[in-house]
Amino acid sequence: MKLIFELGAEGRGLSLMPACDVPDFTLSEEREAPLHLPHVSENELTRHYTALCKRVHGVNDGFYPLGSCTMKYNPKIDEDMAALPGFTQLHPLQDVETVQGALEAYHVLGTELSEIFGMDAVTFQPAAGAHGEFTGVMLIKAYHVDRGDTARTKIIVPDSAHGTNPATAAMCGFQVVNIPSGSDGCVDLDALRAAVGPDTAGLMLTNPNTVGIFDKNILEITKIVHEAGGLCYYDGANLNAVMGVVRPGDMGFDCIHSNLHKTFATPHGGGGPGAGAVGCKDFLRKYMPGPLVVEKDGRFDFEYPEKSIGRVKMFYGNFGVVIKALTYVLSLGRQGIPDAAKCAVLNANYMMARLKTKFDMAYDEICMHEFVMSLVRLHDETGCSALDVAKGMLDFGLHPPTMYFPLIVHEALMVEPCETESKELMDEVCDIYLKLYDMAYENPQALHDAPLHTPVRRLDEVAAARSMVLRYQFA
Ligand SMILES: *Cc1c(COP(=O)(O)O)cnc(C)c1O
Repeated sequence: MKLIFELGAEGRGLSLMPACDVPDFTLSEEREAPLHLPHVSENELTRHYTALCKRVHGVNDGFYPLGSCTMKYNPKIDEDMAALPGFTQLHPLQDVETVQGALEAYHVLGTELSEIFGMDAVTFQPAAGAHGEFTGVMLIKAYHVDRGDTARTKIIVPDSAHGTNPATAAMCGFQVVNIPSGSDGCVDLDALRAAVGPDTAGLMLTNPNTVGIFDKNILEITKIVHEAGGLCYYDGANLNAVMGVVRPGDMGFDCIHSNLHKTFATPHGGGGPGAGAVGCKDFLRKYMPGPLVVEKDGRFDFEYPEKSIGRVKMFYGNFGVVIKALTYVLSLGRQGIPDAAKCAVLNANYMMARLKTKFDMAYDEICMHEFVMSLVRLHDETGCSALDVAKGMLDFGLHPPTMYFPLIVHEALMVEPCETESKELMDEVCDIYLKLYDMAYENPQALHDAPLHTPVRRLDEVAAARSMVLRYQFA
């Protein structure tokens, strides 16, 4: 495919208007070289972007089972609501009296998410999941410092954690203490007991964890941390398995973030905008980033919490994302939210049951919203790795699952089908996965050579990440 600078011809353009008759004005300082602009007609431009559109894969194209990422279908009504001019034409510096409806939207979603999280207050300022983690762990820090307890310098993170967890703890100035998972993928209680002490600031945990298993010792885990004087942080980036069914607050967690761009209807994968809504229990509210939206006698206003950690983003976060989440939550309602979670779990278990007739599961028990296959045996017996199988999927028009994550599972493929896929589609996909398994034994070379039918074949992934060419190279 040609790049846009290789299209068109000198002098060609989009303008249908007559030439401008206002005299040119010469700037005192002129450019050293003329600006590089493409010279394309409207037709060429339209075809160029349409061609680019056809080279990406999104949820609107097909199955996108990226484990841990919750690439579920987002109902179009959520986009319609966020696009209403009454929302898009607002300015963040407007007087609060003129934006009561927008503040009400924050307030209503805050109330609904507090209920889903089992928390008492919510902020929408953080722009993404990792940003929400940062905010939440800073709340934990502020709590200890405020009590004069400055000896709490360590955050405990299990080895199954999402990579952002240890990064967040380090960013907040804590030392990271890694604890191993047991053979069931859950927290090793003895290792946790040995790790906690007077230097424990807190624990960061995802439950269900990144291998898709709900830790049945969760109440014991949060109790061990609390008894040592630490607080518990819930990474709820992906809340798809539990929303409306169990609440992190009831599991003993003190604060949480959830990615509105995973669980609550904002499409993602293209780099934003997103929102990492952070919820906390009442005793942490006074440290929240300001301003928070409050309701007083039917009017809405902003309030700066008493001992706020300060702003983490300008203004009030990504408002459009809040409107999409609000629409999603209200349209699904009290019945629809837990139903969606239950269907996500059912779909994952359906696919797992069909696939384990051939593939090995890393943890062969009932999973939550996702499951992890380990292709170690397949690799040993055929030479075909998880990467080869994933590349083979591309020729069938399928987006591969998450690969080589979590790190504690070797040759991992992590599948999260989401609640929005039909049985027919999951059956089609399972048929293809099982066919690829057979192919590994019958014709391993074909998988080493895949993909054959994509615009580019195998990329040098190291070079692509290390020596990036992000600008057009003009001759
Ligand atoms: C996606 C994810 C994050 C990070 O969210 P971003 O919005 O990408 O920063 C953190 N934790 C878990 C478990 C995740 O799945």
